[in-house]
Amino acid sequence: MTRRRWIADSWSPSTGHPNHAALSGEQAQHLARVLRAEPGQIFDVVANGFLHRAEITEVRGTGTRQAAEVHFKLLEELEADAALPIHLLLAVFKFDHFEWAVEKATELGVARITPILARRTEKHLAQAAPKRADRWRRIALESAKQSRRTDVPEISEPARLDSALKSETAPLRILLSEVEQSVSLASVLSHSNEQPTTHSGQLALAIGPEGGWAADEMTLFTQHHWTHVTLGPRILRAETAAIAALAIAASHLEP
Ligand code: SAH
Repeated sequence: MTRRRWIADSWSPSTGHPNHAALSGEQAQHLARVLRAEPGQIFDVVANGFLHRAEITEVRGTGTRQAAEVHFKLLEELEADAALPIHLLLAVFKFDHFEWAVEKATELGVARITPILARRTEKHLAQAAPKRADRWRRIALESAKQSRRTDVPEISEPARLDSALKSETAPLRILLSEVEQSVSLASVLSHSNEQPTTHSGQLALAIGPEGGWAADEMTLFTQHHWTHVTLGPRILRAETAAIAALAIAASHLEP
């Protein structure tokens, strides 16, 4: 059985002690009150994106009045399971749906999400997006904890499509397009597994907003050598397309 992992809320640089990590909030409460953790016990703790074996040095707030805190001494670093090497370029759409997509993409193992301000991203959403990024980061953190990831996906600053395409370095770049009719995501991924240049490399996936990609955006993708693919004949909501694409990609990347 895999041991439960705890994701530290603070660690050495912020606390000032070397090799120290601490949990607070719900995780600490669960560990302190439900699991009755005690100093000397060993757990796996993720601190600053790295997985460690860690020994409890102090448990505070076992009663109900005080907020719980659990402190650890970080022992050796353990090998962590890698995130899927996928960068999701997700056009910004209605925030409640977008948040859901961030949560699910994190569960499915995405390494990075860049919110894209697409031509058909509604204006007020595009304007509000930069201020939302921190909230999306918190959602990714919570989802990473819940799904026992050892790392937290990076949520980049929202970007315009042209600059995101210019800075994309993944050798395999795939645009999910509701107008593509013949080339499927699965077929491109199986083919790329046979190509030494794209095999086991990074993969970038782009999903459009509720109104879809505009024609000039599609052209821009083509100019940057993105392959246009379909997920089938039905039009999916953007968040459904993101989840379906990640699940299909995972099945090709994780044997
Ligand atoms: N408004 C458009 C649909 C946009 S769906 C229309 O009604 O025609 C939002 C995004 O989800 C699309 O830009 C695309 O990236 C993705 N998507 C939805 N259905 C898809 C499909 N069948 N194949 C590939 N991508 C799809």
